[in-house]
Amino acid sequence: MHTGFKPVFLPLMAAIGSFSAVAQEQDFHDIAAAVSSTRIQQDIETLAGFGTRHTLSETQSETRGIGAARRWFKAELDRISADCGRCLEVFYVSDIISGVNRIPDPVEVVDVVAIQRGTLDPNRIVMMSGDIDSRISNIMNFESESPGANDNASGLAGVLESARVLSKYKFDGSIAYVGLSGEEQGLHGGAILAAYAIENGWNLDAVINNDMIGNITGVNGVTNNTTARVFSEGTRYVETEEEARQRRFEGGEVDSPSRNLARYIDEVADRYIPNLDVMMIYRLDRFGRGGHHRPFNEAGFPAVRIMETNENYTQQHQDIREENGISYGDVIDHVDFEYASKLTALNAVTLASLAGAPPPPANVSIRGQVSPDTTLSWEKVTGATSYRLHWRLTTSPVWTNHRKVGDVDEFTLENVVIDNYYFGVSSVSARGIESPVVFPGPAGAF
Ligand SMILES: [Zn+2]
Repeated sequence: MHTGFKPVFLPLMAAIGSFSAVAQEQDFHDIAAAVSSTRIQQDIETLAGFGTRHTLSETQSETRGIGAARRWFKAELDRISADCGRCLEVFYVSDIISGVNRIPDPVEVVDVVAIQRGTLDPNRIVMMSGDIDSRISNIMNFESESPGANDNASGLAGVLESARVLSKYKFDGSIAYVGLSGEEQGLHGGAILAAYAIENGWNLDAVINNDMIGNITGVNGVTNNTTARVFSEGTRYVETEEEARQRRFEGGEVDSPSRNLARYIDEVADRYIPNLDVMMIYRLDRFGRGGHHRPFNEAGFPAVRIMETNENYTQQHQDIREENGISYGDVIDHVDFEYASKLTALNAVTLASLAGAPPPPANVSIRGQVSPDTTLSWEKVTGATSYRLHWRLTTSPVWTNHRKVGDVDEFTLENVVIDNYYFGVSSVSARGIESPVVFPGPAGAF
């Protein structure tokens, strides 16, 4: 379903100087600084104020339930779009879900999507998402108070704030700002949008799902506002048996595109976000638990989960109550808005960098066995004016060695023995903005 605005060219807007300038690398610091904890707080308060956003809650009221919440979220995106000369296409994507465990009767699960089209490569999309829906102790309770302030109004507020900040700039590639529904009932909204992306031929290079980005005091007694976790799958869910055989001989167990997206986010934090270090977690998600990046992985797309480092289980999926001196419930008082703002800034700069960079190199391959040299080759991509080779010891979590090469599609690293390192290639734009690193072969392809 496509009910959003089409972008229109407004000469007047183009005349307003600083408006909609093409983002440069040096703008990334301004983008990080422009994220407002005050606006994030207001949005989380508004979302918590809908009483419940349970997927099965009522949809007719304008003040309570998931219908009111998703209409408000869409209206905010429409307002952001109006402020940037209709730079966003805002629309719903939905499907009827029925006959599953947590959805006994048919219900329409509705996602909200806003796309800021790229100027050079409009079908290449990088996406930020959060969840609209909430839950309490009983997963089927769709009537009682379920503010879901941290889980996941925090992520959804981050999506809106990123749209506000980034819509002031133009990018080569497109950015999608997304609110997903049906997460708690079984990751349905993510599956619906992943199917929509495939049907519509989206070249979806990155999904950055945010789920709980506002809690700094963990149930483990640790208070920490200087780290964030990024979860990523190690090998692709969609890997075939033949691809798995190739990986067994050539490596790639820790170099899925999702994992290299996680490394990219880690580097963004180091460069642009003061007092924030990314803890990359080499695991799909928390142990035995789920999130909305997963359906995108299952559809073959690179996708990661960003979240707080220290969770508090008494403050998520809980009825609001006092018990043994503990105040249970996912209420607004437990959210740290400065921290949510910092993680939102991490998202915003990552999106700016991904959309400002060329697409990752295609068809990357490697050769060099029984030779002192290693040769990487790839297909050139639109918008790249140079490429960068990367390598690292096989036990290193991050890329440590780099060599910039020109506008070529093959390069030989002399006296760098293929057996001893993992290798990859990234593309670099004329403005010096770099794509994620692509590990050779199907294991690492974006
Ligand atoms: Zn949850």
